[in-house]
Amino acid sequence: VSAALIVGGGLAGSVLAIVLARRGQTVEVFERLPDARKVYGGKHAPLNITLCPRGLRVLAAIGASDRVSALSVPVYGRQIHNADGSVSYQAYGSKGEALYSIARIDLNGALLDLAEREAGVRLRFEQKCVQVDLERSTAAFQDARTDALGEVRAERIFGADGAYSTVRQHLQRTHQFNYSQSYLTKGYTTLKISPPGAGSPALKPDVLHVWPRGNCLWTAFPNRDKSFTCPLLLPYHGDDSYESLSTEGEVASLFSRLFPEALALIPDLARQFFARPPDSLLTIRCDPWSYGDKTLLLGDSAHAILPSYGQGANAAFEDCAALDQCLDECGAEWGAAFKEFEQRRRPSMDAMADLCVEHFRELSELIGDAAFRDRRAMERRIHELYPDLYEPLYSMVTFGSKSYAEAVRIERRQRAALDRLVSWNIDVERPEARAMLENFAREAR
Ligand SMILES: Cc1cc2nc3c(=O)[nH]c(=O)nc-3n(C[C@H](O)[C@H](O)[C@H](O)COP(=O)(O)OP(=O)(O)OC[C@H]3O[C@@H](n4cnc5c(N)ncnc54)[C@H](O)[C@@H]3O)c2cc1C
Repeated sequence: VSAALIVGGGLAGSVLAIVLARRGQTVEVFERLPDARKVYGGKHAPLNITLCPRGLRVLAAIGASDRVSALSVPVYGRQIHNADGSVSYQAYGSKGEALYSIARIDLNGALLDLAEREAGVRLRFEQKCVQVDLERSTAAFQDARTDALGEVRAERIFGADGAYSTVRQHLQRTHQFNYSQSYLTKGYTTLKISPPGAGSPALKPDVLHVWPRGNCLWTAFPNRDKSFTCPLLLPYHGDDSYESLSTEGEVASLFSRLFPEALALIPDLARQFFARPPDSLLTIRCDPWSYGDKTLLLGDSAHAILPSYGQGANAAFEDCAALDQCLDECGAEWGAAFKEFEQRRRPSMDAMADLCVEHFRELSELIGDAAFRDRRAMERRIHELYPDLYEPLYSMVTFGSKSYAEAVRIERRQRAALDRLVSWNIDVERPEARAMLENFAREAR
């Protein structure tokens, strides 16, 4: 019997394995898919994510920084390709801060390598969890190669099995378990831009490219080999939707209207578009995240959020560090540590889920809007002038270390102050602006 059974060897599962092994636990990780390090692509969804300091701090603490820098590309801002063909740029931070673009499968592979090096960690692949008995603390797995079923018993079971978690499904049947799931009415397809050859067009490599077109959004994340991974977001139904695209000609025509650059950058665009069915995006909230001292959910299985702030993986890593800290503080009283962990993390993840829905609209509909850009520019200027009194929400979430819930609380106060500055027509460069911000800060205390 191992001390810890982790269902899911994705991003949260591999970091959790390291954290628990370093606490002296024997850990078994059971992953549904083949080993990400051996079968490149295959059933693994192609995806790039960006890492920010929240996630990077945790990865540094487990000794993963060198691997992550070798696999990632720094991006310093968003290059926005407007519908009229013009291009604008928004830096992510005011001090040249960067996010790091990385293929999720590469990051997963690096973390599995590190997990495997820990004494006491055993990784099992192609093992799909099909059943969890919460009382007996056992889980049943089906081997994808032989279909054979096997039962595993552990002192504790951790559900790190992502948004469609099987462990959570079993918690859902317990008394007073709350659960909600909400799908975005849009799906996404990942396209790939190959590294540029001689004479072929190239995109700027150290930024994230965004083509906002109302209901449709195309983005391009740079890779180290100068290729780009490009999720395309479309509505499932209606105009310019998945439903309206059934032939290669229809795909080419949509791109030539909305994203003409793509036609030159991706010669086999229609083939790529039809190669995989679209993937869905959803928000999941549930509580409680634990069952006594026996079972705990973390990462997407506890709180899947839309990717608009690029925080899901960063938050999953923060979960692992927070659990480690709670175990320190609770003297390895597992049930108490699980409760404390949820108390610390759930308000933040609830706040983040709402923010992501809101920011999603900004990204796809407002980012190309002049009034919206003016407001963002004003925020950046106020931050430059009064950094002690005003920090844009994006910067608090992405580059700060405050909890998401605290960042949202501060943002509400700042938003009210900014509204007042605008409605009273106060020049942000004048001392009255500082006095106004100080007033709001004082009232908030
Ligand atoms: C389009 C998109 C863009 C994103 N961009 C970003 C970004 O820029 N930055 C960011 O931080 N996050 C981003 N995210 C979110 C991020 O990918 C997730 O939050 C993160 O992967 C969560 O980690 P996890 O380990 O909880 O879940 P997962 O990474 O989904 O891992 C779960 C693992 O469990 C396995 N599993 C599932 N069911 C079973 C089962 N029954 N038995 C055994 N194993 C099972 C799965 O195969 C998988 O390996 C993005 C997500 C999407 C969809």
